[in-house]
Amino acid sequence: MALQGCAVWCSSRTTRHHLSPSAPAPAPRRPSRLAVNAIAAPKEVDALPSVGALEAELQRRVAAATAAAAAPTTTGRVVLESPEELRSTWEHRAWVGSATTLMAATLATGLSGVEGVEGALEAGAALFAAYVLADLGTAFYHWGVDNYGDGSTPVFGGQIAAFQGHHQRPWTITEREFCNNMHKLFRPAVPFAGALLLGAAAGAPAWWDVWSSSFLFLCCMSQQLHAWSHMKKSELHPAVVALQDAGLLISRKAHGAHHKAPFNCKYAIVSGWWNPLLDGDSPEASLWMRLERMIHASTGVEPRGWHEPEQAWQEQQRPGAGR
Ligand SMILES: [Zn+2]
Ligand SMILES: [Zn+2]
Repeated sequence: MALQGCAVWCSSRTTRHHLSPSAPAPAPRRPSRLAVNAIAAPKEVDALPSVGALEAELQRRVAAATAAAAAPTTTGRVVLESPEELRSTWEHRAWVGSATTLMAATLATGLSGVEGVEGALEAGAALFAAYVLADLGTAFYHWGVDNYGDGSTPVFGGQIAAFQGHHQRPWTITEREFCNNMHKLFRPAVPFAGALLLGAAAGAPAWWDVWSSSFLFLCCMSQQLHAWSHMKKSELHPAVVALQDAGLLISRKAHGAHHKAPFNCKYAIVSGWWNPLLDGDSPEASLWMRLERMIHASTGVEPRGWHEPEQAWQEQQRPGAGR
């Protein structure tokens, strides 16, 4: 139902920048390093290729050169990762391990403080609320990093580049080793996890320890849930498939609309429960559009989708696809 709603209004617009009354022209393309004379000219005049064929060849080589560049684009987005960049390092493992340990200690402190049936119900409600609100939290976070800033933005630049690059190379997230993928979220969570543990040690209520630690953990784990939503069922553990099919974890089908024009819906990536409410039934009813207009009116800053060429959101062809 929600997916249908989005599909209806998503398909009613082909480019997001048309929505902005003051949207500037698309950013200039990155200059090609190709020289025209790189295309070998035939010796026989009567064997000259057509202009169309030459243009197609030029486009093909521009695409190949861009993909091989493995460098940030003019928007600061990194578009290619080498196999080495997909592996987990000990530093990645240390960040994920230390953040998880801090969160687990806070959760254990909270659970150890649970007393009686009432306390157990309170802890259960706190866990469920963390699960529901983590979905909402990821929606706002994902919308923010998809639309504002770039690779050079202080503190969040790496995450912004990763999320924006994800739209061009979504399969990469499925090829990363676990800690390589997860440290991007667990690392900035360490100070928060440390503060929560200090609060628990200082005698915070049990429900708060349970809620806050599980909320933070689920927000960080959303990167893995997101990765699963990009994998085929045959590549997933049956338990994950069952949770996706039951609607408890974001599924491939539920997340798919986020990667289709106009690329501005389905931001929630834990369960996806919040997406229908946040997306609404039309562009005008979308919370995101209203927020974007409010931000534009008060700061003059436009979201990325208003002024970047749509190609920046389009998925590139996966290397080796169709072989
Ligand atoms: Zn996105
Ligand atoms: Zn995705």
